[in-house]
Amino acid sequence: MTYRVESPEEMIALGRGIAADLDSGSVVLLSGNLGAGKTTLSKGIAEGLHATSADDVSSPTFTLIHEYGAPVLMVHIDLYRLEDPRQLATLGLEEIFERGVPVIIEWPERFLRWLPPAHSFIRIEHDGDAR
Ligand code: ADP
Ligand code: MG
Repeated sequence: MTYRVESPEEMIALGRGIAADLDSGSVVLLSGNLGAGKTTLSKGIAEGLHATSADDVSSPTFTLIHEYGAPVLMVHIDLYRLEDPRQLATLGLEEIFERGVPVIIEWPERFLRWLPPAHSFIRIEHDGDAR
């Protein structure tokens, strides 16, 4: 499926819609260049999961993992800063995937072999004309 979204607000709304299709074991991989809108889509997913408000969601670029909700209703991971697959082991991903909450992962490309094979893959692209 392909969607066209023309603003951050539409991106967040799309995320809310995606959240409605997720279940407790869902893993969502968000692919796309820097600034494509991965974190913005994650904001909408977080809202749709009733984990937190869009404004509360920030990029886990440096912290690598953010958890939202109490109890946790969504885990948001950014693998951008990870250089080596061995570093993945230090994140405790196995335990995270067993927690039964949706896991959203930005920059998954280099680590696909170590991520759950059952996932949703969303590729976000700028439209050349749009910006
Ligand atoms: P990424 O996480 O992929 O690096 P962000 O989600 O941080 O990207 O988005 C980068 C910028 O683009 C933000 O300022 C965001 O508000 C804006 N943005 C996101 N989606 C869209 C869109 N569909 N149209 C226009 N701007 C967008
Ligand atoms: Mg981001």
